[in-house]
Amino acid sequence: MPSTTELPKEMLAARAHGGSTEVHLDTIPLPEIGPVDVLIKVAAAGLALGVFANVKTQRYKHTPTVLGHEVAGTIVAIGADVSSASLGDRVRLHPNLSCRQCKFCVSDREQMCPDAAMMGFLGFGKGEQPLFEKYHNGGLAEYVKAPYWLIDTIPENVSFDVAAKVQDLACAVRALKCADLQPSSTVIVTAATGSMGVSTLKLAEFFPIGRLILVARSAERLREVQRLSKVPTEVIALDELGDWPVTNGLVRRLREIAPAGADAIIDYMPGAIGTDIWQVMVGLGYGGSLVHMGGNGTLLPLPVVALMVHCWKIVGTRGNTRSDTKFVLDKLSDGTLNADELPSHLVVPAGKNFTKRQSTIMTLHSIHDIDHASGIFYFVGGGQLQHQKGTEIVLIPQPNENDPNDPLNWPTWKRHAAFWSVLVFAGLANFCVTGLAPAFRPLGMQFHLTEFQLTWLISITSLGMILGCFTVAPFASKFGKRPVFLVSASVFFACNIWAASSKSYMSLLLARLFAIWSAGCSEPLSMDIVKDLFFLHERGIQSGVLGMAFILFSTLPPLVCGFLIETRGWPWYHWLVSIIAGVDLVCIIFFVPETRYKRNLHALDEAAVPVENVDVTPPSKEDLEPHMSHLEQQQAFGSVVAKSYMQQLKPWSGTDPDSLLYAFIRPYLFLAFPAMIWTILSFAIHVASFIVIVTITPIVLSNPPYLFTISQQ
Ligand SMILES: [Zn+2]
Repeated sequence: MPSTTELPKEMLAARAHGGSTEVHLDTIPLPEIGPVDVLIKVAAAGLALGVFANVKTQRYKHTPTVLGHEVAGTIVAIGADVSSASLGDRVRLHPNLSCRQCKFCVSDREQMCPDAAMMGFLGFGKGEQPLFEKYHNGGLAEYVKAPYWLIDTIPENVSFDVAAKVQDLACAVRALKCADLQPSSTVIVTAATGSMGVSTLKLAEFFPIGRLILVARSAERLREVQRLSKVPTEVIALDELGDWPVTNGLVRRLREIAPAGADAIIDYMPGAIGTDIWQVMVGLGYGGSLVHMGGNGTLLPLPVVALMVHCWKIVGTRGNTRSDTKFVLDKLSDGTLNADELPSHLVVPAGKNFTKRQSTIMTLHSIHDIDHASGIFYFVGGGQLQHQKGTEIVLIPQPNENDPNDPLNWPTWKRHAAFWSVLVFAGLANFCVTGLAPAFRPLGMQFHLTEFQLTWLISITSLGMILGCFTVAPFASKFGKRPVFLVSASVFFACNIWAASSKSYMSLLLARLFAIWSAGCSEPLSMDIVKDLFFLHERGIQSGVLGMAFILFSTLPPLVCGFLIETRGWPWYHWLVSIIAGVDLVCIIFFVPETRYKRNLHALDEAAVPVENVDVTPPSKEDLEPHMSHLEQQQAFGSVVAKSYMQQLKPWSGTDPDSLLYAFIRPYLFLAFPAMIWTILSFAIHVASFIVIVTITPIVLSNPPYLFTISQQ
């Protein structure tokens, strides 16, 4: 492999893994190049939110796969048969793979090729996609391999950052070409503040456009974007139209601005409940074209005769071709197009620098910009980061501004009420394991038990704890935490009453087993709920509080209960647990709503899901439903109504599409990590020795020579 400098053996890469919904930062070997390949040292790699939406929904065909399809950099190695490129060339990567010989490929329509696929992204065509198999890895890495025909030399006056974003600009060129515009056209652009919308606005002057009408949600962002336009531009902010889907506010506004109708609509509006955006169709004049590139999954509520009467054209398009990218590169090269102000996506690395407010950057300059202290990192879309009030602390994860039902948007008291109700439940489960030990002597005398039988009263609960973790907790992944908490806290309460009124050893033994079996899930779930309710910077304290509670609730009971058992008899120990469990059950019913929340990246950046997110076949509502809850659909479009208190009390809030079987298997997969085995063993040895001490102490100390009373033990 010839190279300008000695190349490293390994590199960092942001990858999607099979079975994971997170982006992983991995150290992997440098790609091996073949005779027709070049190796590019990545200088800039753009981020599209569609990439992360795909990771979340696990749509990657070849895993692990390096993400990222917007790439620019320098050639550092060249395959033996490549003569059209030189070491040190500044290039952009054209990520669109195709067969290069079918009827689409030879007629400037290669995005429709059956083998069409995008490096670092998805395959679109229904063909075999042999090239995608070989070149599925993208450019969110230090190096990327590509065949020589997919590189473009970057003009000298164009930065790597801008070159990486040529992909978006070229997609906008394709949309504008599809509109088939006549001179002085009036063009409506929807989702105009997203990256595709702004790309279209920057390119408008090169097409016969006399007037632009930009439609988007936020008035503030629209005004910022409007300033970038070189053609006369008006804006319509959906924010300012009130309940426009119901009142037809958008229709009225469009009729005011353009009474004769627009010549084209370039529609980048995504979202599964975007039905109402079809109101914009009313703004289309005779002979107008609707060009859709947003990935809207809803049905078009339109009488077909309307197409005939108005001579409308409806055109769907996705991706771009080499002629589109050439158009953009030519305009950048001669200086007529300046793309420095394209909207950007900001990366906030997990690990360090949380408190430092970072300026909005257009691209990720290098994979080293991401802190690799942590294996998994978070990407935050949009330039408007939410901070903790009055501080410079960036909120991780970013709460969904548009959704009051996001647990991270709940008031502090509500988050703490839920946390403490669950903490008490988890504490009580521990309390119930060890607290009966001081009662060994009275129990032994009442039921005529051997020491061996007595120790079973403690060890059976340890068994119950394990069963609870492995057989009950997984249900929470599928059905939500609230139903699991409600059922397990009720069973725990009932079993403690059973234990308190037990008249035989076996009855007491079984009551204790079932009590802890049901409550055992509270330990892992209470840790999980910390993640649901608190921001990263708060989780340390809450996890610490939880850890302290576990320790106190397991060590204190023998001390406290000794006195209670001595004065009132052993059943009172279980009555005490029943009373606290009953009160806590009421707290769980009223203060612990469902905390599971699917955070939707789309909601963070209006309409910033570009064309790449569109599948070949437009998804039907039925297709979408398994992937998006109603809530998510609402989030995708931004208008979410807060749930009433009564709605939050509902025991049930839908199931997760993940398989229940997988939820049961998942804990065992961690055994593949030596670090996990070490942690599990250390914890288990600690717990086991503690339980042995608690169990043995009353037996040893109540016999000669000590003859301690119950409270002395
Ligand atoms: Zn083809």
